[in-house]
Amino acid sequence: MQLTTIEAEETTMATIAFIGLGNMGGPMAANLVKAGHKVVAFDLVEASRNQAKADGAGIADSAAGAVKGADVVVTMLPAGKHVLGVWNEILPAMTKGALVIDSSTIDVESARAAHALAAKHGVLSVDAPVSGGTGGAKGATLTFMCGGEENAFAAAKPVLENMGKKIVHCGGAGAGQAAKICNNMILGISMIAVSEAFALAEKLGLSHQALFDVASTSSGQCWSLTTYCPVPGPVPTSPANNDYKPGFASALMVKDLTLAQDAAKAAGAATPLGKHAQEIYQSFDAAGQGGVDFSGIIKHVRGLARSPSS
Ligand code: NAD
Repeated sequence: MQLTTIEAEETTMATIAFIGLGNMGGPMAANLVKAGHKVVAFDLVEASRNQAKADGAGIADSAAGAVKGADVVVTMLPAGKHVLGVWNEILPAMTKGALVIDSSTIDVESARAAHALAAKHGVLSVDAPVSGGTGGAKGATLTFMCGGEENAFAAAKPVLENMGKKIVHCGGAGAGQAAKICNNMILGISMIAVSEAFALAEKLGLSHQALFDVASTSSGQCWSLTTYCPVPGPVPTSPANNDYKPGFASALMVKDLTLAQDAAKAAGAATPLGKHAQEIYQSFDAAGQGGVDFSGIIKHVRGLARSPSS
């Protein structure tokens, strides 16, 4: 099947190779099967391959084997080095004019190098990192932030719509990764700001609910407060009400804040609060809290308290 056919008829089913079947990739591949695509999957881990098989995917014995004859390839891997390693392996085996989408969260530099590699092999490419976590991956409600040429994005959109509900074209090669790390830098900083405000309120004898009622309708209003409040009570669905079970693990916040710092250094941007947020989350992670939801940072913030000055 030609990619132009995918563009013209959004309901056309494709042969899709899916590489990287972890916490995110496993359910994403299952949603492509549910949408009626022929999915051929590969992961280094046997248990993940077995799960994909149970979900209805065909299983290949290598990444290069999975992509043979595929219209579209999706990779969902830990970091830039894995993506470049896998793309180096699969691109020579892919059909010219086919499409490769990377949905991993990786550094902008590696993402741009991956696009250049795809172009060298005559393959269309899109970087399409996600937000929405494992719940969004299971429920096909992810947001995809995409970077790449217009024709590559047009070919990717109907495929991504099977796994997410918001698909945004952010610009050229690497723009999806850039949007992802800028957004998550805001998130990391704002969660610390909200946590500091609650920790100060506690010391001042101000109740959580009173601070919430005022700040959520005033200029302190933000997502970290109104949707993901780091104290239990005001927002019953936030992880604070469930002993800070993720959610979004603090170790992943460290990863994203580190990617933001790497990008800032490479591009010469000043991000002092982003750097401080990275250090604070690194300390939390080093204290064995990497598996705790990132809103649990309030526990670390409280722990930094000094005795009142006289
Ligand atoms: P994961 O570690 O659960 O899955 C990664 C998978 O890649 C593993 O199953 C691993 O075996 C496989 N893999 C590694 N190298 C491979 C290779 N050479 N060939 C085939 N398979 C290989 O990670 P995850 O939670 O699924 O996250 C994947 C990506 O999505 C990461 O970049 C992460 O930062 C990003 N992300 C995760 C979340 C989340 O909530 N988990 C949210 C947003 C974005």
